[in-house]
Amino acid sequence: MKYIREFRDGQLAQKLAGAIAREADPGRQYHLMEFCGGHTHAIFRYGVQDLVPANVTYVHGPGCPVCVLPVRRLDDAIELALKDNVILTTYGDMMRVPGTKQKSLIKAKAEGADVRMVYSTQDALRIARDNPHRQVVFFAIGFETTTPPTAVAILQAEAEGLTNFSVFCNHVLTPPAIAHIVEAPSEPGEIPVRIDGFLGPSHVSSVIGWAPYEPAARDFGKPVVIAGFEPLDVLQSTLMLIRQINDGRHEVENQYTRVVTQEGNRKAQALVDQVLELRRTFEWRGLGYVPDSALRIRARFAGFDAEKRFAVSPKESREIKSCDCPAVLRGVKKPTECKLFGTTCTPDTPVGACMVSSEGACAAYWTYGRKRAVA
Ligand code: SF4
Repeated sequence: MKYIREFRDGQLAQKLAGAIAREADPGRQYHLMEFCGGHTHAIFRYGVQDLVPANVTYVHGPGCPVCVLPVRRLDDAIELALKDNVILTTYGDMMRVPGTKQKSLIKAKAEGADVRMVYSTQDALRIARDNPHRQVVFFAIGFETTTPPTAVAILQAEAEGLTNFSVFCNHVLTPPAIAHIVEAPSEPGEIPVRIDGFLGPSHVSSVIGWAPYEPAARDFGKPVVIAGFEPLDVLQSTLMLIRQINDGRHEVENQYTRVVTQEGNRKAQALVDQVLELRRTFEWRGLGYVPDSALRIRARFAGFDAEKRFAVSPKESREIKSCDCPAVLRGVKKPTECKLFGTTCTPDTPVGACMVSSEGACAAYWTYGRKRAVA
């Protein structure tokens, strides 16, 4: 398949691995954070870590949109789902993420809540059209990649006069999170994570372009290379980062030129800007409150804002204490350092979001780390 097979070519991978081995200075360490869960999965699926020298380490970042949603917002979604006459719609991974006391949307469904998995916002709109006497809430999560379809759904609902459709908006933004990771103090007793450069998000950058990462690269002195998701993309981006670090440069470079441009998708950006606006602060699991890192629905579209339409009670939300997801998302722990990994916590019995999501680091270690018992 075009744009897939040629980016998985073993011989080219060996050539790139050779170039990395030649150019990586044996006298220094290179800690490269891959922001996206898609990169983490590519690194494990294709054994990329085994192709680079021991002094090149991939640090897994908070790039799994399901994983970074804080428990409080998930608890709110569960409360919405349990309200009379509500149909709560969301993407599949969110259904199984445990909230406070291990409650999840799928457990709420078992208790009688009408929770439906959708593949797109168009499915949620269809459910609203088919159920005019029910309130249909779309539980929207995700980075900039999934934000435009949410904005389009709200515009469509307005155009059609769909008054029984609303959105519980939890969209978050990647550039502020990258800056926050570099700046943020570590937790008490925690060794701060070392990051020498970033493999930047690819799908996100196809929407926002690569320019928004320039302030973080400039102000914090950390090179960023926007990297595709195939193994050769990751290897080539690794080489580009090593060259920048060796040269003392900290620029934004674009490896994923077949998809990403400097300015991104202007049409999608305009649609998002029409419907959504910045939140002054938003909580991320693992990172805490990050300034200007999320979006909410503009007042002009308040009729489609589930946070305004439904009262959600303040609650005592709690992370599961023994789950190390927050530390995994900060990059200070590897999944295998969590004592629940592979014992209490597996994809069949997930304790934390990082094991549920198809982009979660714990799921990557389990799936490709040969941790599954042989039958
Ligand atoms: S292995 Fe499970 S419990 Fe441990 S950090 Fe990952 S998701 Fe949380």
